[in-house]
Amino acid sequence: MIKVKFFGAAGTVTGSMHMVELPEFRFLVDAGYFQGHLFELNHEPLREVKDVPYLFLTHAHLDHIGRLPMLVREGFRGKVITHRATWEIGRYILEDAFHLMDEDDRLYDLEDLRRTFALPVSFVECGEEYSIGNLKFRVRDAGHILGSAFYEYEYGGKRFTFSGDLGNTNKPIVRDPQMPNPADVVFMESTYGDRNHKPFEESVEELKEAVFSTLPRGKVLIPAFALERAQELLYVFKTWENEGIWPGEWKVVLDSPLATKILTEFLKFPECYDEEAYERFLHENPFKLRNLIITRTKEESKRINHVRTGTVIIAGSGMLTGGRAIHHLKHMIEDPNNAVVFVGYQAEGTLGREIVDGAEKVWISNRFYDVNIRVFTINGFSSHAGRDELLDWATAANPREVVLLHGEERAKESLKRAIEDRLGSRVHMPTLYDEIEI
Ligand SMILES: [Zn+2]
Repeated sequence: MIKVKFFGAAGTVTGSMHMVELPEFRFLVDAGYFQGHLFELNHEPLREVKDVPYLFLTHAHLDHIGRLPMLVREGFRGKVITHRATWEIGRYILEDAFHLMDEDDRLYDLEDLRRTFALPVSFVECGEEYSIGNLKFRVRDAGHILGSAFYEYEYGGKRFTFSGDLGNTNKPIVRDPQMPNPADVVFMESTYGDRNHKPFEESVEELKEAVFSTLPRGKVLIPAFALERAQELLYVFKTWENEGIWPGEWKVVLDSPLATKILTEFLKFPECYDEEAYERFLHENPFKLRNLIITRTKEESKRINHVRTGTVIIAGSGMLTGGRAIHHLKHMIEDPNNAVVFVGYQAEGTLGREIVDGAEKVWISNRFYDVNIRVFTINGFSSHAGRDELLDWATAANPREVVLLHGEERAKESLKRAIEDRLGSRVHMPTLYDEIEI
């Protein structure tokens, strides 16, 4: 008998962590961190999972790897199984998360981080098959961010698959997600279970319109996530330069130390790229425009305030909850010649969301600012599969049972009905600490 227990990404709770119990041994899939208003859940004890001997990581987002240092703090000394890109990018993500925590609310210390990256690791490649005892597993490309994988397991005649996060099709750099092999049970994400995205190409056109209509008279600020989104934007700008439509005097400033570190990782793993990006990589740096400025210090970052036109600034944080994007915004927000372009999800309660929702005045640091800046919201840059893609993915696996993880209630309900109608599978929506048997 195989049992699976959910320590995260269950119910409406994010922070993926799932424990699989085989008669032979146990293993974990992901060790994600709870963000936003669920932060307190990170304090829940991890006694039950600390002695698990194996941890499979699907990708380097915080809600999939963020609790790993806490696991180590509790005594976890198991082996990590993941793609090398996830492990290397994950180190930067965890260091950054550590520095962003309030000093009196830190969940782990630097020594825990050091021990985390001293854990034994087995690096795996997409497309390859491996085994641990009688457990066989295949690693597949999830197409979500660089290095992202999903895992297909086989044990005692049962086949079960964990999707991790699945990517959106036609995105630059990463490949499209692979279709799964048939499985008895599928554990899958359902973030966009109730809606589709605009095609990526349309979103690139919207970005072009926002940038090209603004730069002759002003500046563009793009608050962006440091992992994947920032690199994707650089890739798109470089495409425009290659097409000869990017005026030579316009500049792009990458003003995010974390995105800059991750950019160096992107250049180390061209084997994870799709065909087009790989082709370009062979004869150029596909992220580097001639006029790309990478800031190193806060002083360099502040100097951009004196530039009035012809400059795109890519800075964190992606939802304007902190970081260098904030000081750029303060200088730009009251001038209608400037634009702010949102290319990522803006959670409720964030400054980004307030501006997207049309606030006329916003409070930043110590005073109110008039929102005179032009505001663009572009939806198709998402790194997640849309509803139709999730359904097609589930259809390829054609499972007897589906377990929906990682999504809001409405998205899950909607995807549940669609899967039941199309595949006749039994669909579960477990809540935190539920257990199911395969
Ligand atoms: Zn993710």
